[in-house]
Amino acid sequence: MDKGTQSIHKKRIAILGSTGSIGTQALEVIEQYPRLFEVEVLTAHSNVDLLISQAKKYKPNAVVIVKEDQYNYLQDILDPLGIKVYAGSAALEQIVQMGSIDMVLTAMVGFAGLAPTIQAIQAGKAIALANKETLVVAGELVMKMAMEHQVPIIPVDSEHSAIFQCLVGEDINPVGKIILTASGGPFRTKTLEEIQKVSLKEALRHPNWSMGDKITIDSATMMNKGLEIIEAKWLFNLRAEQVEVVVHPQSIIHSLVEFEDGSIKAQMGLPDMRLPIQYALGFPKRLPGINKQFSFIDYPELNFESPDPQRFPNLRIARECLSKGGNWPGVLNAANEIAVEAFLKEKIRFTDIPILIEKTLEASSFVPHPVYQDYIDSDREARELTRSFIKIIT
Ligand code: NDP
Ligand code: MG
Repeated sequence: MDKGTQSIHKKRIAILGSTGSIGTQALEVIEQYPRLFEVEVLTAHSNVDLLISQAKKYKPNAVVIVKEDQYNYLQDILDPLGIKVYAGSAALEQIVQMGSIDMVLTAMVGFAGLAPTIQAIQAGKAIALANKETLVVAGELVMKMAMEHQVPIIPVDSEHSAIFQCLVGEDINPVGKIILTASGGPFRTKTLEEIQKVSLKEALRHPNWSMGDKITIDSATMMNKGLEIIEAKWLFNLRAEQVEVVVHPQSIIHSLVEFEDGSIKAQMGLPDMRLPIQYALGFPKRLPGINKQFSFIDYPELNFESPDPQRFPNLRIARECLSKGGNWPGVLNAANEIAVEAFLKEKIRFTDIPILIEKTLEASSFVPHPVYQDYIDSDREARELTRSFIKIIT
């Protein structure tokens, strides 16, 4: 087809977790580029009303609600509009295989992202990966599958997007190390005694980013950075020692790559997730920004500190799990999900989170070379263990 008659093929996108923080911002991006993107599928766990209003606005081919008791309500409203409705977590695994989907944005939270991401890869769909838990639990398996199916995995997580952007055009140049920046969260300057008394409300008040509750608590405990070390290891095929963390409270430098000649590249911008989302959806093309421009004059100082393992033990624990390997990062993730959920329900204290994770690791069965089913079984065992430890302390 010559250029004059070539029609623009819109990228058809499935958003898993469209009602969340990343999902809603992805829809804002898509709305700006109606000639480039089309919403093919939207999914939510239980927020049926937001899913309905999104479906009415973006007119996807199909929607999935995980909570099955919402199916009839959703069906009554969306069926007359010609939108197919499915329910249950198995439906998520099937819908991502739909022939008309070009790219799957994994914007759901937690371990639940693993199974549909694997199905999407096996069906040959490009992945825009926000759900970091997928790579934390099964990074080796998922990256191997992506390679076999020749599926690109484009990171949405801001640090990993930064590194991905720094690596464009550097294929022949080995990476010396990468430096993940961390805001340090709301308790960066608090003492250990003060951290022991923090409330849920304080932990939910992130200084720079507005995000879903789970990742906001992960940022406060610095588990988020621990998970991101593991995510980076698999995404960029690095050794654990090649992944460093530096605390940078302004969140302007989103991460850095140091090459073998000692040169360091950084990616910068105001903290706004719409930028990495837009980059992942539009890759390899950069699209005109919808974000506010960064000005150096507004930020005369950019600061850097070492993370403190005494006050934030989760970073150490995550590194230990990465070096032990096998199912250990998955156990870490499961224990963290259950502990964070309990903290969000105000059943446990903030400082109980790392304690519960370490107890779960001590009690779990180690699988050095897990296959897919081992990840599932190990996740279930770890969740049960963490829940039993929570019962003891509450
Ligand atoms: P939110 O909690 O805001 O949204 C989560 C989304 O997933 C919602 O649509 C929710 O549906 C859905 N969901 C929740 N549980 C399940 C489940 N068991 N099965 C299927 N769907 C489910 O999360 P975020 O948007 O903050 O985060 C999403 C992912 O992106 C996480 O992995 C996070 O680590 C990562 N990420 C997020 C960033 C951010 O800025 N928010 C930055 C970097 C990474 P419902 O609304 O119905 O509950
Ligand atoms: Mg991040």
